[in-house]
Amino acid sequence: MDRERRIRLALVVPCFQEESALPRTNDVLTSLLLKMSEAGLVGDDSYIVYVDDGSTDGTWGLISGYACCRVKGIRLSRNFGHQYALLAGMEYVAGNCDACVTIDADLQDDPSVIPDMVRAYMDGSEIVYGVRSKRVGDGWFKRHSAHCFYTTLRHLGVECVYDHADFRLLGRDALSALLEYGERNVFLRGIVPKLGYRQSKVYYQRGERKAGSSKYPLGKMIEFAGDGVTSFSVRPVRMLFWLGVVFMMAALLVGIYVMARYFSGETIEGWTSLILSIWFCTGILLIGLGILGEYVGKMYVEVKKRPRYNIAETV
Ligand code: UDP
Ligand code: MG
Repeated sequence: MDRERRIRLALVVPCFQEESALPRTNDVLTSLLLKMSEAGLVGDDSYIVYVDDGSTDGTWGLISGYACCRVKGIRLSRNFGHQYALLAGMEYVAGNCDACVTIDADLQDDPSVIPDMVRAYMDGSEIVYGVRSKRVGDGWFKRHSAHCFYTTLRHLGVECVYDHADFRLLGRDALSALLEYGERNVFLRGIVPKLGYRQSKVYYQRGERKAGSSKYPLGKMIEFAGDGVTSFSVRPVRMLFWLGVVFMMAALLVGIYVMARYFSGETIEGWTSLILSIWFCTGILLIGLGILGEYVGKMYVEVKKRPRYNIAETV
């Protein structure tokens, strides 16, 4: 495609209860777009789309107030979650831009690297990841849990960019390829690296949330991490299989030992070990069932083919 002319860029911003962060975010993003178009980097038809993910505070009121030719808004009919809000925004801008950048509403991801993303796109990258070089804004717990998250994903065979969240640029081709993925359990960080195309990274420092509080409490974070693993890797089930093989072999050895004791006329006392093994094996079985249940549950959700989000109104 022609990457010489000024591109039409769309910024997609998911918002959930962000009334305190949004005024500043809107100032920063609109003036950034203006600067970029003055510098000839993007066309002056570039725009921002705010996706209100079912907020109950004044978020939608603010978005409606900002709406103009450069700012659009979509309100989902309820809270569907960050990934679905992003998806709604991207589906909305697909076909209406040359490239889109997704960025959180709290400005923790540094918007000043967006021009670098656009330049990387001009140089031929279809996907540009924003990667956190330093997490100054995150506390000890968030940093270490994130590290565990990315390392576990990698060990389980889920291809995903280390320390990259959902701050990324997608060119038109990558965007339409992404929207071909029809799964209900959406984990964008796992899907995007699978799209192929030329991919590159820009680095930035992850700052502090500018206002409001995190919408990702611990429970939601764990659920998200679990989704990431079970949506992309069957390794837990495979590991369970090999664990079963180890147990079978151990049971064989124990069987030989027990038979030898039996034929040599010694009585077996072993109540303690019996009880222990019953508990232990039950534990293993339950864990196995739990993991299988997770996958079966995923299939259940997928076969229903429910819509991934519903739009209530747009401005
Ligand atoms: N968000 C959303 N729906 C949700 C939760 C969060 O659209 O159900 C948005 C939120 O408004 C923000 C982004 O997703 O723009 C990231 O959320 P947050 O900053 O709370 O997550 P953290 O940075 O703490 O991981
Ligand atoms: Mg945040």
